[in-house]
Order: sequence, then C-alpha cells, then structure tokens
Amino acid sequence: MRSATIMIISFFCAMLMGSCANSQTKSASVDHKGNKYYSRTDTNKLNVSNAEWKKILPGDVYEISRLKGTEYAFSGKYYKTDTKGTYYCVACGNTLFRSTDKFASTCGWPSFFESIRPNAVTYTPDDTHGMQRTEVTCTRCGGHLGHLFDDGPPPTYKRFCMNSLVLEFEPDGK
Ligand code: FE
Repeated sequence: MRSATIMIISFFCAMLMGSCANSQTKSASVDHKGNKYYSRTDTNKLNVSNAEWKKILPGDVYEISRLKGTEYAFSGKYYKTDTKGTYYCVACGNTLFRSTDKFASTCGWPSFFESIRPNAVTYTPDDTHGMQRTEVTCTRCGGHLGHLFDDGPPPTYKRFCMNSLVLEFEPDGK
C-alpha cells in the first residue's frame, strides 16, 4: 500500500516537470570558486537576491533552488546511491543530510527520513499544483530542496523527497 502511494505521488510529481525542462540533464560538478556565499562552516542566514544567484548558479541548479523547480524522476545522480557520507546544499554549503538517514525509495528522488539537525531545513506549506504539500528549503540560503511526505520508514515515518541537483555529496573520509 505504501509503495502504491509512493508511485501515485511520483506520478503526480512527474506531471509537474513541465516547468523544469532543463533539469533532466545532470549538472556537472558545481565549481564554488565564483560563489562567495558558499561555506561549510558559516551558518549565518543569507539574504541574496535571485538576480544575484542567477549569476552564480548553473541554470539547472538555479531553476530548482530559486524557482522551485523539480528534476525529472529517476534522473538525479543520488536517487539510488547508498555511499556513506554527507549531503550539503550545493548553493550555500549548508550541511543537510547524512547517508545513514537515506533510504531506498521507489519514488525516483533521493529520500531521507530525517535531516542532519532540526534547523538545517525549513518547512513551509505549499498548496500549489492542486496539492497540499510541505516544501523543504535550506535554512541558510532559503533555496528550494524538495518536499516532505508522511510515507517514510521508521523511526520518523517521514520522507524528505529531495532533488539531486541541489545536493552536493561528499563521501566519508574525503
Ligand atoms: Fe543553502
């Protein structure tokens, strides 16, 4: 039953991809050299305009992070990976998720049952596209990450349905 629910949700999510045509291609590794806002240690909130982000972020990343787009299901580089490590916000470097909180979901997007710390992400009601969902954004830069659903595994029974394109993974020990 849970699997069927996930498939239905995935279908509806896939229907929303029209606004995100560029995001079917995987973004190359993001070079942070031109991004003065990127930091793995500074947790101060950023207040950067979309016009500024547009100069900094690759187009497909900008489209999701700043325009709330969604990558095509099964297109992202992290949806089925289970390598041990940490996931960061690709726009600002904020630490978001641990691989130990990632689970194998059939929805086509990387799925986590918990964020690395409660205030790493921010939750906002989202009633767009005829659905009532909870949007998940990066608390530091405000960038869109994905949505939160109630069909995850224990212990939280939550599913953070995230876009690979706005995540940056670093394996343990690197
Ligand atoms: Fe961020």
